[in-house]
Amino acid sequence: MSILLILLIFLCIFVVYSIIPTIVMRLFPIGIFKSSSIKNKAALTFDDGPNPIYTPRLLDLLKKHDIKATFFVVGENAKAYPDIISRMYLEGHTIGTHHYRHLSNWLLTPREVKEQCRMAADTVESITGKRPVYYRPPWGHLNLFVKWSSQPFKIIMWSAILGDWRCKLGKDKLKKRLHKSLHDGAVIVLHDSGENIGADQLAPEMMLQALEEFLLEKEDKIEFVPIDDLYEHETAKKRR
Ligand SMILES: [Zn+2]
Repeated sequence: MSILLILLIFLCIFVVYSIIPTIVMRLFPIGIFKSSSIKNKAALTFDDGPNPIYTPRLLDLLKKHDIKATFFVVGENAKAYPDIISRMYLEGHTIGTHHYRHLSNWLLTPREVKEQCRMAADTVESITGKRPVYYRPPWGHLNLFVKWSSQPFKIIMWSAILGDWRCKLGKDKLKKRLHKSLHDGAVIVLHDSGENIGADQLAPEMMLQALEEFLLEKEDKIEFVPIDDLYEHETAKKRR
């Protein structure tokens, strides 16, 4: 068999295992949570932390505005900074997981996905005493078996992802996107760490500045609540 044919077979397997399921599940998110029909509430979610520089500043900002948010933390970061995880928990935020290491589901077998979810949840639980319920796949990458292999965690995607991981976006543009993305039941993604592939290390500085101005400017009509409120609203609706 020629090398070209072998490469073609691998490429086909990869596309069927990772790319197609990601596109299909994002278009038809059955069993995957993206937003809610709840009125006057929305969720701010933060991925990739905790980060020793930016996450404490973010927690200060959220406290100042009396906002409860949701953090999708990377297990190894949680292990490195348990005090920040404790603070998140004690201040009433929801803690979900984002794998033990920030690895894409496109490159993981179902068994490895299960292991990444379990290890991340174990780490958070060992710090807070509470096992996470929610899971957000790194980069939003899904695969053919992710709904099964990430059980019992509930997969949370988003209604708005704003490109805040790149400094070149700029504070003003990010703030504009925040205003535009805010609506009833919105799930907004931001990042409190810039340490992953494709992100700028200093990007969370820009995010914090944009978020601070946005929170001062935004109308009081919509309250930010943890993802639990939005998720439970939808499940209660389905039960009716
Ligand atoms: Zn991430």
